[in-house]
Amino acid sequence: MTKINTPEPGTCKCGCGEQVKRDYRPGHDARHVSQLTRAVREGAIEKRVALRLLPTESLREKLTRTLATKVA
Ligand SMILES: [Zn+2]
Repeated sequence: MTKINTPEPGTCKCGCGEQVKRDYRPGHDARHVSQLTRAVREGAIEKRVALRLLPTESLREKLTRTLATKVA
C-alpha cells in the first residue's frame, strides 16, 4: 500500500522531506502526481483527497488525465 505523507511546511510536497523554498524539488511535482495516481488506483486514498494534495491546477489536471488512461 502506498503511504501518503503529509509534508512539513518548507519541505517538498512529494513527501521526500527535502527542504524547499517553493512547493517541490525540481521534478518532484511529477513524482508526486505518480505517487498519488498509484495511491488512488490502489484504493489507498480517494481521488478528491489526492486532488486536494496537489498545489496547482495544472498538476490536478495531470492527475485527472493520468487516472483516465488505462493501466498497462
Ligand atoms: Zn520531493
